[in-house]
Amino acid sequence: MLAQHPLTSLKGVGEKQFEKLQKLGLFVVQDLLFHLPLRYQDKTRLVELSSAQVGGEILIEGTIFSQTLSQGRRRSLLVTLQTESGHFVTLRFFHFYPRQAQQFAHGKTVRVFGELRSGHNGLEMVHPSYEFIHPDQYVPLDSTLTPIYPTTEGLGQASMLKLIKQAIALLKQSPLEELLPQKLLVQLQLPLLNQALLTLHQPQPSDDLRQIKQFQHPAQQRLIIEELINQQAAMQQMRATEKQRNAPAFPPSQTCNALLTSLPFELTFAQQRVLKEIQNDLSQPHPMQRLVQGDVGSGKTIIAALAAIQAADVGYQVAIMAPTEILAEQHLEAFNEWLEPLGIPVAWLNGRMKVAEKREMMAQIETGAARVIIGTHALFQEAVTFHKLGFVIIDEQHRFGVHQRLSLHEKNRDKDIHTHQLIMTATPIPRTLAMTAYGDLDLSVIDELPPGRKPIETAVLSNEKRFEIMEHLYAKCKQGIQAYWVCPLIEESELLHAQAAEVTASLFSEHWPDLRVGLIHGRLKGEQKALVMNAFKQHQLDLLVATTVIEVGVNVPNASLMIIENAERLGLAQLHQLRGRVGRGRKQSHCVLLYQAPLSQTGKARLNIMRETTDGFKIAEEDLKIRGPGEVLGTKQTGGLEFRIADLKRDAEWIPVAKTWASTMIIEFPEQIDALNERWIGQKIDYQHA
Ligand code: ADP
Ligand code: MG
Repeated sequence: MLAQHPLTSLKGVGEKQFEKLQKLGLFVVQDLLFHLPLRYQDKTRLVELSSAQVGGEILIEGTIFSQTLSQGRRRSLLVTLQTESGHFVTLRFFHFYPRQAQQFAHGKTVRVFGELRSGHNGLEMVHPSYEFIHPDQYVPLDSTLTPIYPTTEGLGQASMLKLIKQAIALLKQSPLEELLPQKLLVQLQLPLLNQALLTLHQPQPSDDLRQIKQFQHPAQQRLIIEELINQQAAMQQMRATEKQRNAPAFPPSQTCNALLTSLPFELTFAQQRVLKEIQNDLSQPHPMQRLVQGDVGSGKTIIAALAAIQAADVGYQVAIMAPTEILAEQHLEAFNEWLEPLGIPVAWLNGRMKVAEKREMMAQIETGAARVIIGTHALFQEAVTFHKLGFVIIDEQHRFGVHQRLSLHEKNRDKDIHTHQLIMTATPIPRTLAMTAYGDLDLSVIDELPPGRKPIETAVLSNEKRFEIMEHLYAKCKQGIQAYWVCPLIEESELLHAQAAEVTASLFSEHWPDLRVGLIHGRLKGEQKALVMNAFKQHQLDLLVATTVIEVGVNVPNASLMIIENAERLGLAQLHQLRGRVGRGRKQSHCVLLYQAPLSQTGKARLNIMRETTDGFKIAEEDLKIRGPGEVLGTKQTGGLEFRIADLKRDAEWIPVAKTWASTMIIEFPEQIDALNERWIGQKIDYQHA
């Protein structure tokens, strides 16, 4: 079994070599087989210069015509080659030994492989590899394409190739087990595993290199689908396990209806649908695991409140986790307004509480006197013990902590009670990405905004217009609107970041002393932040100059103008989040994206997307295309999203296919599913922890 053969069993792998291989994630022989080439060189045919394309890597043959030493800016050896058809190409060497120069004697035949470029004096190749050919000797061409592998320092192509060759020889002796069902391979027209691996390590000249380059070759697709099926199956099994656990069932609640009738608005159809889905989950004796996606302003908070009532009504506690203190405070306000009149006490934990106050609150949580408790993620991680926690609502906004989801139920005094979990996010996640990143969750989407909202109008302007925009903003504020001015993170330092906002705020105050300007950034203490936010909310401030701390969930409906500086540096999803702070009232809102010229083509295209649409899903799809899944999810740590071969961006279309086959295989081929897991995940983990 190649999965058990350690790499040290191969020729040429000692301790040192093994260490380097481990760096590449290679531990056993089987890993080498899944270590696929980055690209290939074609040395299977000679190319005539007349038909060659500049930029391509080609193999040519010719006789040496002349040789010169160029003493230009860099000394170099220039060898001119004439091909059979009479075309010339110059070989350029910057590093060479005198002996090497002597070798290139007039009239000798040489076979050369390199990238064809167009130089000052016609075609050239820089540092090609070459081989002298004796005129009467027949030197056969390669019969397969030459793979180029990812390597690491101190481990060259040649050594890697030798190792792979050994691994392939072993593969031929003891092929890997085929784990995908025959009917899948037939239906999707994909090759067998062993065949696919051989093709990718040693493609034949007849294999379509262009297809391979674009990852469209059936051999690649076969591996991609296998890896994705494994990932989807793992998610589905995780979810099934969770579904078997016991959780308290909360029956439908009358109190919930009481809140509904007292609201000054009616739920949108989308809100009603999502609420039903949640209520249904909560009434089951198994833990809900649900992700609610709803664009900024779609009204997720009221849904959370209505759901919380269902648990609180029968005496269970509900924890509501917000990503920041500002947001926690805002939730507190909303929940107080909605739940207190119904006799449900709302409590909160915050970082600014005095020790005694906090201790008192903790005690209330522990005795069960506090029923609905709001706090930040961080606060709930501290030493909180719940009396009877039955439901956790996580408002992640765009900040995900998949790893943080989890184990709150362990904070229950009775650790056997599992909690229902509802995760709310304002990040529109493209469907394929959601399936992968949140495949263990059920998904609800609030795909409708409350009526009467006017789409925000967005303009994209050069930073040169900065002062004019400031003047415009002042005039607007004098007419009674409120505005945000956002200075995004330019330096990694929180300090410089804060300073940029400070400078802008004082610039406003200098020029327009009667403009009421507030400043908010990450270096302010929680208390100060809350003061500024409140003043803005109560229209004691006209303008709020802020760093990107503002993006999470701030709700001030009277604010209808937002300026974002250096917009070109922010991701589309983040811009969308920021922009969502306006457009919350009845007034027409405007957003100005300022950029630092010159703007690249893609930069321009990206900002134009922001101008053209306010549809978060469209924006997220574009962001996924441009920046990849890590950025769309707002975190670099996309735990569980690292693949060996598959790429969520490139292979998105395969994800739904993999999902379907994973469910089929779990039922029909459970042993293969276990073996797949062992193949794609098990090994790696075992060895890393060894
Ligand atoms: P988000 O989904 O971004 O968290 P919020 O829950 O903060 O959005 O809701 C934004 C605003 O819309 C709040 O003032 C909320 O009270 C209001 N709202 C929510 N649902 C409706 C509705 N169906 N009709 C009108 N206004 C609503
Ligand atoms: Mg919200």
